[in-house]
This record gives sequence, structure tokens and C-alpha cells, in this order.
Amino acid sequence: MSKNKTYQAGRHFLQIPGPSNVPDRVLRAIAQPTIDHRGPEFATLTLSILDKLRVVFNTESPIFIYPASGTGGWESSLLNTLCPGDKVLAFETGHFATLWKNVAVKLGLEVIWVEGDWRQGIDAAVVEHHLKEDQSHEIKAVLAVHTETSSGATSDIAKIRKAIDAATHPALYMVDAVSSLACTELRHDDWGIDVTISASQKGLMLPPGLCFNAVSEKALAASKLSTFPHSYWSWDSMLELNKRGYFPYTPSTNLLYGLDEALCMLHDEGLATVFERHHRLALATQLAVAGWGLENLCVNPEQCSNSTTAVLMPEGHDADELRNIILDRFNMSLGMGLGKVKGTVFRIGHIGDFNELMLAGALSGVEMGLNIAGVPHKKGGVNAALEFLANSA
Ligand SMILES: *Cc1c(COP(=O)(O)O)cnc(C)c1O
Repeated sequence: MSKNKTYQAGRHFLQIPGPSNVPDRVLRAIAQPTIDHRGPEFATLTLSILDKLRVVFNTESPIFIYPASGTGGWESSLLNTLCPGDKVLAFETGHFATLWKNVAVKLGLEVIWVEGDWRQGIDAAVVEHHLKEDQSHEIKAVLAVHTETSSGATSDIAKIRKAIDAATHPALYMVDAVSSLACTELRHDDWGIDVTISASQKGLMLPPGLCFNAVSEKALAASKLSTFPHSYWSWDSMLELNKRGYFPYTPSTNLLYGLDEALCMLHDEGLATVFERHHRLALATQLAVAGWGLENLCVNPEQCSNSTTAVLMPEGHDADELRNIILDRFNMSLGMGLGKVKGTVFRIGHIGDFNELMLAGALSGVEMGLNIAGVPHKKGGVNAALEFLANSA
């Protein structure tokens, strides 16, 4: 894109774990003329989107859509349901959990922060332990990141719900499903989630710019008692206007066109097929990493996510140097190591509108990059992935 760079033929490989590749159908939908967001045509669009979206969240409850990044979804979940000084329980699964915690701290919440090594999901037994200790029910919310995009580890959200129930604790259960929604199963209602937060630019295959709050009855009831000042994020006004297909302020009309199209595509393919596709591509990626003799940052194989794989560099080798070489030579962007794993890991996104041959290309680019960068590795990572893909359809 820069002026002094010559044209690079072919498509850019966007292998970061979000924003993910935006399908042409979605881009074309977004390119439609903007319409009156207070007119009848718009109301039909909104109501149809909300119907299709509820299937993806597996909920009958309201889902609020904001023109914002995922961070806005975090802020909204906390501001609407809690009061200044409330205690919340959160888990250091990685960079995104840390960012969400930071939002909570900045808003004036008291965070009980369970430290972690960024290499695994949340331990449900630890959740149960903390809640059982909290006899006086001072903890008002449990914050859990479903797929921790910085480490590639997915936590068992249903199991954590059981842990909360086992402690017979009334805390609200809030789940960040930003990089898991539409990549792996998420059941807002069945898993007793009170607020599910998500965003447009990952499994939903849209550009960044929309975030979501799916809210339970219990969360709505809590929102009536919340004393945080908030206006833009207010669920009340969203709820009222959404019922008729409208928003309290100008929505992101063109992204909603894109969302409508993306939801049609997800439902055409079938969510079960979408999850299965992500899972196969994730397994193939894990096999490639093992084939290269490199280490996966996520240490529990059953927690390795459908969305992204974080790969540890051998001692003395810089992940960002490798990523730069791969970008320069092969026009592929890989995810960088975030926060405290910067430089020590790179991430391969396998999320959204993505298929086997795209993965084969991406893994080939990594293998060639390892070679060029002189990173010690074994040959045959790509082969292992291809063998698996060929024989597991
Ligand atoms: C991408 C992502 C977010 C959202 O971040 P924004 O940059 O604000 O859109 C939040 N949580 C997780 C787990 C993510 O992967």
C-alpha cells in the first residue's frame, strides 16, 4: 500500500486472528447505498439481522449491536450491570483477559485477578474455589474469555458455569466470545451466560466496527440497579428501539448490510459445518507446528482453539523478524505476539472465511519463512498438515 512499494501480484494473505478475511459477498453487501436508518426498509433489515444473530449466539435474549470495537463491548457489559467498587473475578489467560481486566480497573471495579502463565484456559476448579470462599457474595461478576486470542487457548465455558452453580453463587457470568463466536460452539442460554460480548471482525467475517452484547434476563435486571453513569452504552434505549428495528443513534448501516450477508452465509453453510471446518483447519495447523518441531503456546491439546494457533520461537530467534520476512517475501501477515509474549511467539490465524488450500498456502509461507530466517526447524510440517487434510474429509 505504501507509495514506494511496487505492486505485489495476487491476494494478500491475511493470517492474523482478526480482522479476518472479508468475503467478496460481504464486501459487495457493504458497498450498497446507505439508506434512511429511520425508514421502514431499515427496520426490516435490523429485525432480520437480530433473528439470524440469535441463532449464532444460541439465545432467545436481546442482543445489542454497537458501532464500536470489541473493547466497547467489554465496557458496555460492565457499565450496564455493575456499580462502582463492585468486586469481579477475572483470570489471566493472556493479553485479552488482561485488557478486559484493565477496563474493569479503570472503571473503578475491584478485580480479583487470578494470575496465569498465558498457556492454558481457565481452570473451572479455581473458579469454584474462589466463589465458595466468597460466602458473603461480594463478587458480582465472573469474567471469562472464551478463546484467548493471544495464546490460542479456549476455556470450557459450560464447565465454568457448572463451577459457579456448584458454589451456588449469584455472580453474573460474562463471557468474551470475540474470537470464538462462529468458530466454535457457544450457547448463551444453555450455558447460563449473562452477558456474551463479541465483535464483527473475527468469525463473523466483517471488517472491524461492530460489537455485541447478548444479555440474559438476570443481566437486564442487574442493569436496572446499576449506578454507573453511562449514556452511549445504555441497554435501556437500545432495548426499546431495537424491538421496532431501530437504534437510539445512527447505526453503522453499511456494516449491518455486511452482517446480514455474513449471517446468511453462515446459515447457508450451517453452523455445525462452520465449526467442523474451523476445527479441521486448527488440527492441521497443530500438526504442522509439531511437524516443524516447534512448540505450541497452548499446552493443553484439548484447549487448542479453532481460531488461532500461537507458535513459540526457539530460543534466540525473534518472531517479529520472521513475520517481517514472511510479509516481505510472500505478502502474508501473521499475528504478532501480544503483550508479554511479543517477539517470542507468532500466531497463525485460521478464522472466518478460510479453507484448506488457503491454509496450505499459509503454512507453506511459514515453512519457507522459517527456512529463509534460519530458524531451526524440521522439514515436513506442511506435509503433515496436507496428509491430515487429505485423509480426514
Ligand atoms: C479481538 C479481540 C477483542 C476485541 O478487541 P478490539 O480490538 O477492541 O476489537 C476482545 N477479546 C478478544 C478475545 C479478541 O480476540
